[in-house]
Amino acid sequence: MENKGLLIVISGFSGVGKGTVVKRLVSEYGYSLSVSATTRAPREGEVDGRDYYFKSVEDFRNLIDYNGFIEWAQYVDNYYGTPRKFVESEMAKGHDVILEIEVQGAMHVKEQYPDAVLIFLTAPDVNSLRQRLKGRGTETDAVIAKRMKRAKEESKDMTVYDYIVVNDDLDICVQTVHSVIVSNKCLRENNIKFIEAIKEELQEQ
Ligand code: 5GP
Repeated sequence: MENKGLLIVISGFSGVGKGTVVKRLVSEYGYSLSVSATTRAPREGEVDGRDYYFKSVEDFRNLIDYNGFIEWAQYVDNYYGTPRKFVESEMAKGHDVILEIEVQGAMHVKEQYPDAVLIFLTAPDVNSLRQRLKGRGTETDAVIAKRMKRAKEESKDMTVYDYIVVNDDLDICVQTVHSVIVSNKCLRENNIKFIEAIKEELQEQ
């Protein structure tokens, strides 16, 4: 099989549980996780370098100028970006890398890495999405309202994604996302070089 790592983009509505799903994918299946840079303030319990690289707007803009991101986007008044170095070196080592990013970033990734697998996580319905945002208790009503508005916009872009996965039962969701990634790797079009190599080797027998 191809031994260059796969780029996996996971997006989804705010509050859908992306963070938990991604952590489980990393701990249970050994995916590499890209840590993003952001200009947003850390939430309680978040650690610099583990959850995000927390940056000033100035530092973030410098990184943009130095081509330090494979993509970046503005989301609810803050900048978010995927550091280039980590992703490229992990993929070169043959590791599959997960990016947990929003939809504008996902589209930029697909333009640059057409082989990337784009997965969108959704709640079963809008009501459970709103409840989850409220339940987290970390955001003000104004921020929740902004995120619901943003979710409305994001729903228009769901069709950009290769796979849509419902996060209703966490275990099932994690297994489903992993299966999607594995089956994507087995697609014929992702194994053209492998097929050619096997055919050539067999010719020599
Ligand atoms: P939060 O502030 O809740 O941690 O993240 C807000 C949104 O930014 C989420 O949808 C998250 O997936 C997205 N995000 C996190 N890191 C990045 C990144 O590096 N690039 C882009 N485009 N979006 C990101």
